Amino acid sequence: NTVPRALLVGKQEALPMYRPRDKYAHKGVLGHALIIAGSYGKTGAAALSARACLHSGAGLVTAYIPRCGYTALQASVPEVMTLTDVNEDHITAIAYDISPAVIGVGPGLGTHRATADALGAFLRQNNTPLVLDADALNIIAAHREYLRFLPEDTVLTPHPGELQRLIGTWKDDFDKLDKAGEFARKYKLVLVIKGAHTVILNKDRIFVNSTGNPGMATAGSGDVLTGMITGLISQGYAPLQAAVFGVYLHGRAGDIGASQTGYEALTATAVIEYTGAAFTDLF
Ligand code: AMP
Ligand code: MG
Repeated sequence: NTVPRALLVGKQEALPMYRPRDKYAHKGVLGHALIIAGSYGKTGAAALSARACLHSGAGLVTAYIPRCGYTALQASVPEVMTLTDVNEDHITAIAYDISPAVIGVGPGLGTHRATADALGAFLRQNNTPLVLDADALNIIAAHREYLRFLPEDTVLTPHPGELQRLIGTWKDDFDKLDKAGEFARKYKLVLVIKGAHTVILNKDRIFVNSTGNPGMATAGSGDVLTGMITGLISQGYAPLQAAVFGVYLHGRAGDIGASQTGYEALTATAVIEYTGAAFTDLF
């Protein structure tokens, strides 16, 4: 039995994970990221994720959303391309004609029966790297047969409620990590256990993040993280590295943001806006 290697992640640990941008880079080599998200009243979740994905460096970002969100998404994030589902209020069929490098699924998705069926049909034929969050996790927790369709190293980003639906209840933090580790090994996943000290683990390693603050306990904060990790995978970070570096960056952006706004006024949008500062602060 191998003892998992644990690492506390601060700037020193994050810097070597950073992949410097090539002077001759063009958007084609930085990947096309697809964000599948949103439902009636929650187009903002899709916009936040897509925008965070862009700010973390993806070459191209497309959002796949229900029809009702089209105008809002196009107007709020002009750099992001939009594909719409056939349905108005929620996603019912995941069909697109692009070849994304990575797909982030879940923010604001809702758990409608038709959305769950569409996700199941999509997962059965998908081989593209995935980041799953929010309602994508809730749907998978309710349809556990979907778990075996996830590509190896799929990144899951549950908050405590979502984690409990996936792995059941735990007695204490040690028990939680045991159960989470077992789950990650069984399905060959990267698990991002979100909280004040987010833990990232896969089959043989554990990372504990050191950045972030209580100002990040705010609407849309997790949607931003999903977009960031998706954007990092898009430009070539391996899924585990993208998860660890993305969580660090998200927390650091929140820390720099909170130093300007204080905790109470910090918003998910501000976390996106300080992402650039979190990158430049590495050096
Ligand atoms: P979600 O619940 O999906 O919106 O995700 C919340 C995000 O904010 C996660 O990335 C958490 O790690 C982060 N977050 C929430 N509360 C705190 C806190 N008290 N300290 C640090 N990070 C936090
Ligand atoms: Mg969330």
